[in-house]
Order: sequence, then C-alpha cells, then structure tokens
Amino acid sequence: MLSVHGCPLARPGTRDAGGMQMYVRALSRELARRGIAVDVFTRRTDSSLPAVVPFAPGARVVHVDAGEPTPMDKNAVVDVLPEFVCNVKRFQRDERLTYDVIHSHYWLSGWVGNLLARRWEIPHVTMFHTLGRLKNRALADQEETEARIRVEEHVVGAADRIVASSEHERQALVEQYGARRERVSVINGGVDLGLFRPGNRVAARSTLGIPPGDEVILFVGRMDRVKGLDVLLRAMALLKQRPRIRLVVVGGSDQDAEMERCRALAAELEVDVSFRGASPQESLPTYYSAADLLVVPSHYESFGLVAVEALACGTPVIASRVGGLPTVIDDGENGLLVPSRRPDAFAERIERFLDDRPLRSKLSANARPSVIRYSWEFVAARVTTLYQEVASAPVSSHLSLEGLCRH
Ligand code: UDP
Repeated sequence: MLSVHGCPLARPGTRDAGGMQMYVRALSRELARRGIAVDVFTRRTDSSLPAVVPFAPGARVVHVDAGEPTPMDKNAVVDVLPEFVCNVKRFQRDERLTYDVIHSHYWLSGWVGNLLARRWEIPHVTMFHTLGRLKNRALADQEETEARIRVEEHVVGAADRIVASSEHERQALVEQYGARRERVSVINGGVDLGLFRPGNRVAARSTLGIPPGDEVILFVGRMDRVKGLDVLLRAMALLKQRPRIRLVVVGGSDQDAEMERCRALAAELEVDVSFRGASPQESLPTYYSAADLLVVPSHYESFGLVAVEALACGTPVIASRVGGLPTVIDDGENGLLVPSRRPDAFAERIERFLDDRPLRSKLSANARPSVIRYSWEFVAARVTTLYQEVASAPVSSHLSLEGLCRH
C-alpha cells in the first residue's frame, strides 16, 4: 500500500487526515486477516517514529524518509517523491521483499505507484479518494494545482485498475479524465460495524456533558472548505428560534485556517456551537449516539464515511446531494438529501426531521440495516478479487512520469 501523504496511524480529523487514512488502516487490517501481508509506505513526518510499526498481525506501516521529517503541504510533497521512491526501493532490497500488487492512495501515491510498478513489473491498483478537477469545480476556484491534475491524468492512463468509491466517481473518471470504463471498479468504502453500533443516547449525552432534552445536530469531519461547515452554520442561524437546538462539531484543530473561519462565522451568526476538535475514531460512536442527527453539508464527497458511520449507530443523516452521498443516503428512507450550498434547504429539512415524529422513527429504524452491506469484510473480499484479477492479467505498460518533478 502506498499512502505517501497520510499515515494510517495519524490522528484523524485534522487538516489532511481523514477518510483516506481510515480506509487504508481498516482495509490493510482486513486484508491481513485474510492472509494478505500488507506493508503501508508513508512519508516520515516525525524523526522520532520507528521505521517499521506493526499495527495488526500481518500489517505494518513503514515510515519512509523523503524531505524534512515534519508535516508538509501536499503540494510540497511532490518535490520529494523521487526520494520517496528511492527509499522504498532501498527498503525492499534491504529486506529482500517481493510484492505482488501495489495499491496506491491519492494522486501523490499514484505517481509513486506507477514508477514502482514499472520497476518491479507488478500490477498497480490506484484509488484517488478525491479528484482535483472535481474539487476545483465544487469550490468554484482553482485551489487544486494544474500539476495535481496532470499527475492524476497520467496515473489514470497508466494504472492497471482504478478503484472508485461510487458510481459517481467512476463516471467522473471516465468523462473528465478519459479513464477506460472497464479499468474502473466501483468498490465502496467500509464501516467497522462492531465499533459503530447503536448506543444509549442518555448515557452518551451524559458522557459528553450534553443535556438530555436538547436537540443535537452533529457535524464530523476535517476542517476543509469542501466540507461546507459554513452552510450548516448558516442553517443553524435560521433555526435559532428553537430554544434547545445546538450544534456539535467534531474534527479539526486550532491550527486549521478553516476552523478559525468557522469559529468567527459562528460568533458573527450567534449560533450555539460546541467545537470539540478532532477525536479518536473510538470515541465517535458516543457522538453519533448522542446526536439526533448527523448533517453532511459537503460541496463534494467521493463517498462520505461519516455518513455510513452515523447510520451504523442508528443516527439518520441529512446530506448534500453530491458525489457518492446519494449512494449511501436513500432520500426519505435512512436520511434526507438536500441541494448543496443551500442553508435554507438544510434548515427546512432539519426542522422537518425534528418535528415529524413518524418520519424520525422511520429514518432511525432504517439507519443501521441500510449500511450492513458496507462491512470491511465485504470490501476486503472485493478488493482481494480485484488483486487476483490484476495479478493474473499481463502487466500494462506504464508511462514515465519522471519529467513532471523538479528533481
Ligand atoms: N474521523 C475521526 N475523527 C475525527 C473526524 C473524523 O476519526 O475527529 C474519521 C471518521 O471516522 C471517518 C473519517 O475520519 O472515518 C472521515 O472520512 P470521510 O469519508 O467522511 O471524509 P474525508 O476525510 O475522506 O474527506
């Protein structure tokens, strides 16, 4: 596994650590349980970390030196990718390892994956998690660089197989990146159904210091503009007449610029928000159980793991009708779908949900059964089949991407 930018052991919920890290960690663990040994290569961001950290029987993280051992902006990581490739090769040589398949995550790792796959003559499976073009469109500006988009195009052309987490992502890969449809497999993200399960609301609220009679709206996610937390804050401002409504925000840290922006907006709008910061995944079930509702107001979401986690805990979800979210949310069955960027529409649906008892009971009852199909066991079984398919097919010719980097 290549996860250059995003150690699967990093604290999730901060600027760049979110669904992808959780995905790599859970999938690797499950693959290892099925007898597939997994090494996850990630860039060293702290000099005190050991080179190799086992995190499950048969699965380990390998911290690879590339650039300064400090956190780095993803656009700066591009420049140290050649060093990363060299050091992965050195590790493989020193340890006398042979790998059967490379599975890369995100465009930076896709670049590395193409080179290593060519060198080792093994198949390369890649997964983007987010795509630069879709993100730029969702944010209506050019936050993602042209270099990222060029790398994505090359990786799409060279990888043996692309895993998309929803049909929407597959369509985007075909239409906007020229991917060959038959090379894109749709395998959704997963959820740990043992960790995320319905809990006692009163007990959860008491743990979190939330009064039992309050109406609790929950947001969980990294502090990134694409998550649309500002839309939810504006929706909450429209619901201020409800005396007991409150918003709980989990994710982010004070170092995140988006956190600062949202705190300022909440103060300006005078909405009752409790910013709890990033939380270890093990504590999230308590938040999901304490909440009446999870709101996912994203402008774009390739899948939306938090929605699946909340549903697994029996908590309905109101989400933007974007990306992979309509795959997870069946409007009027386990949640409600809303046009993105519309605070008024979010406010209207939140209010409808809170006031309509029969609707609320129906969505709550359907929540967990609707996500049983997303177990990691099932995801790993499908990924294993994919590995078997690519491993038995002739290795495709890989494009050289060396010229794209300054080194
Ligand atoms: N997460 C977490 N702690 C937090 C916030 C998020 O563990 O404080 C996890 C959450 O459980 C989920 C992931 O981070 O598995 C976020 O995934 P999602 O697909 O919702 O968003 P992404 O980060 O991929 O954009």
